[in-house]
Amino acid sequence: MALPSLLISSLEQSGIRRVMTRAAEFPDAIHLEVGEPGFVTPRHITDAAHQAALDGFTGYTADVGLSSLRDALAQAATFYHGDETFPEEICVTVGGIGALFGGIRAVVDTDDEVLIPDPGWPNYAMVVEAAAARPVRYPLRAENHYLPDIDEIEAMLSERTHALIINSPSNPLGTVFPERLMQELVELTRRRDLWLISDEVYHRLLFEGEHNSAWRFHSGGRLIVVGSFSKTYAMTGWRVGYALAPPPVIELYAKIQEATVSNAATPSQKAAEAALLGPQDCVQAMLATYTRNREVAMEVLDQRGLEYLRPQGAFYIWVHVGREDTNTFVLELLEQKRVALAPGSTFGQEGRGWVRLSLAANVDDVREGVTRLADFLGDED
Ligand code: PLP
Repeated sequence: MALPSLLISSLEQSGIRRVMTRAAEFPDAIHLEVGEPGFVTPRHITDAAHQAALDGFTGYTADVGLSSLRDALAQAATFYHGDETFPEEICVTVGGIGALFGGIRAVVDTDDEVLIPDPGWPNYAMVVEAAAARPVRYPLRAENHYLPDIDEIEAMLSERTHALIINSPSNPLGTVFPERLMQELVELTRRRDLWLISDEVYHRLLFEGEHNSAWRFHSGGRLIVVGSFSKTYAMTGWRVGYALAPPPVIELYAKIQEATVSNAATPSQKAAEAALLGPQDCVQAMLATYTRNREVAMEVLDQRGLEYLRPQGAFYIWVHVGREDTNTFVLELLEQKRVALAPGSTFGQEGRGWVRLSLAANVDDVREGVTRLADFLGDED
């Protein structure tokens, strides 16, 4: 038998998957480990996709997506990302992960270095490695309010560094970058001839403050913004995301998609179009639930004296448990208290001692899950 690909064999699956697999053995477990809205997709979106399929939207589309969806995205990006956007600057992808993978593939070659946040979404390292490039983690530390430190990042740049990935609102931290920091990051990458890949998939899910998109400061430079329908509209299974990038990069996306997925599923693209063009109160209603869950989680954590980061956006809360080996910690917690959480160390070295709880579950599960975590830590003392 021919040898399997060493590159792909060596990719490490995230610790979240491991917890999910183990949690499936406990039917009574409370699930706060996954980053997925606890809602089904709003009815008008599903209806629109159904109708589109009946109307014949069942064939291939252009590699970069349906022109009607790119038009709608151009309008939405102009509004939400704060700079006039044209359809030629947009590629519809298979989820935000498709926009991330395509972006990395488009701008990075074998053995190039890509700076990724620590703690940060585990898939960043996986995607960079799958592209035969090298992830280099930059720390997000308490001293700097868990935000990127421009000087520290600049000091980490090498001749091989090609791209910098940033994520605001952050998974897992819930931090939201201030306007000035976003601008400085765009300027840094411009000054040092790097690509900036700004993952903004949670940009509509804000508890406080406002989203500052890197797109506002780009002026045609080396910037790719990653967006998605998954979190905003509870559409994780439809697999639609998008990239905003200069037109020459969108042409590269077309080739990458041609070589991998052809295009995002056509009825899903019609669903995404309906999501953008339809009423937006569904987004507000879901956000109101996450906001309430955040209040409940913070109330229990405060009462029980646990340290956490007050999330400003996304739908997670990052809680300090003080145990280095959080992989073992979350498995023990699951076995003894039947609550599944994401281990901090799966997000990078800086995540040791922390766990991530999803606020996208129902409120009773959030209250009970946090209470059981606090009980477990209390039992241990
Ligand atoms: N970026 C971040 C930070 C995420 O947390 C996720 C999903 O968890 C994604 C991107 C991609 O999501 P999707 O591929 O479903 O759009």
